[in-house]
Amino acid sequence: MTARFDFPPACLGQDPEIWFPLQESDEGERPTSGEARALLICRGCPIAAECLADRLAWEVGTKTDPWGVCGGKTAAQRRALVRSRKPVAA
Ligand code: SF4
Repeated sequence: MTARFDFPPACLGQDPEIWFPLQESDEGERPTSGEARALLICRGCPIAAECLADRLAWEVGTKTDPWGVCGGKTAAQRRALVRSRKPVAA
């Protein structure tokens, strides 16, 4: 079996609830204190870019409204990223 990543994610072994704070910021707002805690951990994650790409692909593919912190971005930040993407010519 091949490992998906060469380095373990920074959230490995942490309480998953950290990434799903009770209060979430809206677009344009500063992250809540709960989000900031998760973002701080994500900032040191060696696979943050891959994590964000996977999460965005899933959220777009399933048309799921983002929630929680993932890939170093809050739900509001990911929502803004998706909305700002440019259409790809076929
Ligand atoms: S970037 Fe993704 S894999 Fe890394 S700590 Fe954050 S949520 Fe976990």
